[in-house]
Amino acid sequence: MNVEQAYKDANALLEGHFLLASGNHSNRYLQSAKVLEYPKKASLLTDALADMIRDAGIEVDTVCAPALGGVLAGYELARSLDVRSIFVEKKEGGMELRRGFEVSPGEKIIICEDIITTGGSALKAAKAIEALGGEVVAFASLANRGFCKRVGGNDTSKPECALPTDVLLFALDDFSFEMYTPETCPMCKEGSTAVKPGSKG
Ligand code: ZN
Repeated sequence: MNVEQAYKDANALLEGHFLLASGNHSNRYLQSAKVLEYPKKASLLTDALADMIRDAGIEVDTVCAPALGGVLAGYELARSLDVRSIFVEKKEGGMELRRGFEVSPGEKIIICEDIITTGGSALKAAKAIEALGGEVVAFASLANRGFCKRVGGNDTSKPECALPTDVLLFALDDFSFEMYTPETCPMCKEGSTAVKPGSKG
């Protein structure tokens, strides 16, 4: 599975001058919602992810995604693993389970995101699940931005990674892009203005 090509084919790997949520600038941006536009193509991605998880011998009862960004990836991964799919939603400072979703004590749960950047949302989802007695057996995402170490990746975990080092992260590929502060951004120096891609536009 060539994940970078799948993103390019879906016009989900944007090139330009982007303002990231962190305030930094980059010349590339992953718009994962685009790579999930076609359910049959999305299921090819999550089938590959499910194979990695099975090959590692991880037992999973349920996939839990942090809303909104992780919901489609989580739902498709649950289909690929043939397990239950739930999601948690933002509340003040964290995440919580709503809508009548329940977690049983000891239930083996994998937290699934579309993209893991530093893993902040995934960690909040994991804490919500653990508070209900669930066991977080792994993290998973389609793309890993290179701050956290994934199974099969070469890089080590960077200080920015929020995920616990004793729980495995499965991702299809690493996407480590150049990032600049606004002061050092070469595209700003050339006079262009960074645009915010993300969920707002
Ligand atoms: Zn810039």
